[in-house]
Amino acid sequence: MREQKITLGEMRESGPTRLLVFCQDFRCAHSVAIDGDAWPDHVRISDLEPKFTCQACGHRGADVRPMFEPARMGTDA
Ligand SMILES: [Zn+2]
Repeated sequence: MREQKITLGEMRESGPTRLLVFCQDFRCAHSVAIDGDAWPDHVRISDLEPKFTCQACGHRGADVRPMFEPARMGTDA
């Protein structure tokens, strides 16, 4: 997945400003949404992955991906 290689700057250019962080332990699968504002544009999303520790099970390392918000276009078709 090319997504994992992009920088936060590239992510923000394509829309998302938040990140979804998943525990790498599939038995746990805890996930949390965080704000990407804490990191500058040149940081790669994949560089963040080793920095997280799961708050549910204590596993070090996470899968991080952009959080695509549902489009908020007004009218019902
Ligand atoms: Zn976990």
